[in-house]
Amino acid sequence: MTLAGRFAPSPSGELHVGNLRTAMLAWLFARSTGRTFLLRVEDLDRARAGAEAVQLRDLAAIGVDWDGAVVRQTDRGTLYEEAIGRLQSAGLTYECFCTRREIQEAPSAPHAPQGAYPGTCRNLDAAELEYKRSTRPAAIRLRASVSEYTVRDALHGSYTGAVDDFVLRRNDGVTAYNLAVVVDDAEQGIDQVVRGDDLLPSTPRQAYLASLLNIPVPEYAHVPLVVNSDGVRLAKRDGAVTLADLDAAGMPVGEVRDRLLASLGLPPGTLDQALAAFNPAGVPTAAWVWEGVVNKR
Ligand SMILES: [Zn+2]
Repeated sequence: MTLAGRFAPSPSGELHVGNLRTAMLAWLFARSTGRTFLLRVEDLDRARAGAEAVQLRDLAAIGVDWDGAVVRQTDRGTLYEEAIGRLQSAGLTYECFCTRREIQEAPSAPHAPQGAYPGTCRNLDAAELEYKRSTRPAAIRLRASVSEYTVRDALHGSYTGAVDDFVLRRNDGVTAYNLAVVVDDAEQGIDQVVRGDDLLPSTPRQAYLASLLNIPVPEYAHVPLVVNSDGVRLAKRDGAVTLADLDAAGMPVGEVRDRLLASLGLPPGTLDQALAAFNPAGVPTAAWVWEGVVNKR
């Protein structure tokens, strides 16, 4: 199978310059190492009608192209269920009936990381299971046998993070992100994952899950986020941060692209030109401050 990198946006709204910069980096990492570059729409949750088309248009406008057809997670339920089935057969799952509130209020297990699932439903007996099944639908959790796991990251080096009995399928039937992302990356031949460093804390869970499914763990590069002038992760409320809004404020897409390239120490111009100057080891490790745009019109 061809080795590949990817960008995997959630179509919950328009991409902002932070998302576009991450997409650009994922593209540069993949293309500079001769990988194909795939686009996957992570639309299991919070998808907004029409958002995907706008996201794809904006990616193309900034110069991020991709190979093959766009893959959508909502088309891939069979793959996810197959993986959950394999884990179930191996005794690596259990049903959980807890509400969010019950989890928050349960005393946490000794030495458990903060926010970890306290294991309430881990060892229900047959009678308890039967009763709980009659009260509400179950989520499916992983029966983890470790409390932490270590991954290698191109920017962060060795990173150890918490692993708990995380959810694989929510009680509303929706596949959980941690399961879908592992199954998709493996099935698509993706061996290089470049994404925002807000996802680094959940990466040990995903790598551990991959190991249980006998899936090779991809190379990771968690790249710094773009922040506003207060140092807070950039969001739509920070004014003109999407291509459409920036264009309306007098900054055309080529100028946005050049600003993003400059933030990576790369020359202005097309992404193909930037590729010639790109050095993965030279990617800045600190968050980049988006200064905003003074309305020129
Ligand atoms: Zn539970």
